[in-house]
Amino acid sequence: MIFTYALCITVVILLLVYILICKYSSYDKYLKYFIELNNNITVITSDTEMLAMNQAGLDFFHFTTFKALHKRHKFLSKLFTEIDTEDKYVEGINWVTKIDKMQNIKVEMHHKHFKQIFYMQVSKIRPKRYQVSFYNISRMVAEKDAIVQIAEKDDLTQIYNRNKFNKVLSSALLKAEIYKEPFTIVLFDIDHFKKVNDEYGHNIGDQVLIQLVLLIKSQLRGQDTFARWGGEEFIILSKGATRNDSYALAERLRQSIETFPFDEVGHLTCSFGVSQYEKNDNAIVLLKRADDALYRSKNNGRNRVNM
Ligand code: GH3
Ligand code: MG
Ligand code: MG
Repeated sequence: MIFTYALCITVVILLLVYILICKYSSYDKYLKYFIELNNNITVITSDTEMLAMNQAGLDFFHFTTFKALHKRHKFLSKLFTEIDTEDKYVEGINWVTKIDKMQNIKVEMHHKHFKQIFYMQVSKIRPKRYQVSFYNISRMVAEKDAIVQIAEKDDLTQIYNRNKFNKVLSSALLKAEIYKEPFTIVLFDIDHFKKVNDEYGHNIGDQVLIQLVLLIKSQLRGQDTFARWGGEEFIILSKGATRNDSYALAERLRQSIETFPFDEVGHLTCSFGVSQYEKNDNAIVLLKRADDALYRSKNNGRNRVNM
């Protein structure tokens, strides 16, 4: 009697387990059809490995079947890199549980040889089942970058404008204060430029500005930020440079300008002012010191460097 009773209970339990397994596997099958309705790359993943990817995803990654893709990449986190953050989920296998509460995480994925940018959205369907969708925002990002570039550049010379320089300066001031990273600015102005315009016309004056910028650019390092401060006045911020480094740089630039044969107008000179970041400086104080040094260069006969 007891034996029959135990047998019945076991059969019932096994039946329930079977029903549950069937229910869940048909649920997964249903999900696979469901993600095909989405035109964006969509993946079903457990908290560890991928279970399905829609056709849009397979096309993107150049696989004909999900099986072929799964053979090469078990973990979705291997297929993208998170951007705009220090946290990277590329190696972790439990990343999805950490980020299912967050939305619109910006990620990068490779399509052929091009990087594409997506918003990644994770939604929990049930325990250990997540739907992850990727919305391609590459065009939007490229358009935004183009607008930012236009807003940061000087129309005539194509170097940074004052607005962008001020942003670079703010970040350099912050780093100097927190990490004690030194930096220096060099301000310079073309001597008697008004005469160039008066004698040769505004268009030739413009060409001189363009030529001068090319001449200076060719002598700067990657850590230097070069901008048009306004009119015929330019500014350089040199990260990691001391007062003496920048004095030497300004002197080299001064000499290269005075010997350069500018088209139509021949020889020109510039006057320079150098100012190094000092403890508790703000942008106004630092720029005023460079401006005062430039003023001394102008007053002492032009074509010279002061600091
Ligand atoms: P100083 O040695 O004291 O600097 O004399 P300067 O003649 O260079 O200085 P001033 O400030 O009297 O004149 C600057 C001139 O620069 C006047 C202005 O028309 C010219 N300028 C400013 N921006 C541009 C520009 O984009 N293109 C041209 N062609 N000229 C410009
Ligand atoms: Mg001038
Ligand atoms: Mg000037």
